Amino acid sequence: MIPVTKPFLPPIQEYEKYLQGIWNRNWLTNNGPLVNELELKLKDYLGIKHLLFVTNGTIAIQLAIKALGLKGKIITTPFSYVATTSSIVWEGCEPVFVDIDRATCNIDPRRVEEAITSETSAILATHVYGNPCDVEAIDEIARRRNLKVIYDGAHAFGVKIKGKSVFEYGDISTCSFHATKLFHTVEGGAVVTKDPELLKKIAFLRNFGHDGPERFAELGINGKNSEFHAAMGLVNLNYVDQIIQTRKNLSQHYEKFMPAFQGVKPFIAENVGYNYAYYPVIFDSERMLVDVVETLNKNWIHPRRYFFPSLEDLPYVHQHARCEVSDSVSKRALCLPLFDTLTVEEIDMIFRIILRVQNN
Ligand SMILES: *Cc1c(COP(=O)(O)O)cnc(C)c1O
Repeated sequence: MIPVTKPFLPPIQEYEKYLQGIWNRNWLTNNGPLVNELELKLKDYLGIKHLLFVTNGTIAIQLAIKALGLKGKIITTPFSYVATTSSIVWEGCEPVFVDIDRATCNIDPRRVEEAITSETSAILATHVYGNPCDVEAIDEIARRRNLKVIYDGAHAFGVKIKGKSVFEYGDISTCSFHATKLFHTVEGGAVVTKDPELLKKIAFLRNFGHDGPERFAELGINGKNSEFHAAMGLVNLNYVDQIIQTRKNLSQHYEKFMPAFQGVKPFIAENVGYNYAYYPVIFDSERMLVDVVETLNKNWIHPRRYFFPSLEDLPYVHQHARCEVSDSVSKRALCLPLFDTLTVEEIDMIFRIILRVQNN
């Protein structure tokens, strides 16, 4: 079976070395030494100032919304994973969906501007497939209209714009370190900000609001992560450049088939240092996508419709205006298998099947 992704697992001995230390210290969680070490190494690797390691990428978004004190309406993208929208609703705010750009699949800044009202408090945009949003346009609109910006960078680990980390944009960026993501800690995530005050606040929020054992500075939640998860991150971080290089090679192999493919790929700007987190293709029609998926499944190949459905369709959101581009793209987008141990022969087979169905 060829799945859409397989979690990366490092040599077990390297993980075991960290376990010995955990057993010696008998310190399993609560801001332990491995969590600290991982945070330092991640900041160094990503080239950013502040980062907090948290439970997962969803809690990261919720902490961001809470820390910024957002109220009312948050302008967001319908073309993302459900966690982007559910976090807004969970924090008692209302998502206002703005359509995406046809070429990049990211939120369209021109439509963001049109959707702003006196009730809008923030913009929450996703770097879809790790491809950065138009961050300069979004940050500029936010400054001018006095809004906060959160970027859901769950897919954007290590991505750069003109050599600068994509996590440096907006008020807060979040990342997911879930097992299926490019860099993982089994479960985990991060909150990134340049603002030291905001960082301090999120550090309180992450730990029940504790300010010392008997004092509470803020309303908090348990957003901490453990030494075991940090250990997995520390081991995997040593492999991440290699992982990205392998995925780049595999993506370039996929690329050879694209001239014959009846469809497109999301556009990635020249100045982006991409991380090859996904290999998405967008078919000309949903009918073609469904036929291809059926045939691939018969051959034990399981790509994933990602993102599908468009998030205006969630049962707990109440937006009547449709986002036509997102609706259309979500029906035709497919992420093809891409993981460390995928082979070029498997890619050949996958694309031979796609082209056979398409030319039938
Ligand atoms: C994976 C993902 C999340 C959620 O991250 P978790 O670590 O699984 O909670 C949020 N947003 C996007 C776009 C994602 O792909």
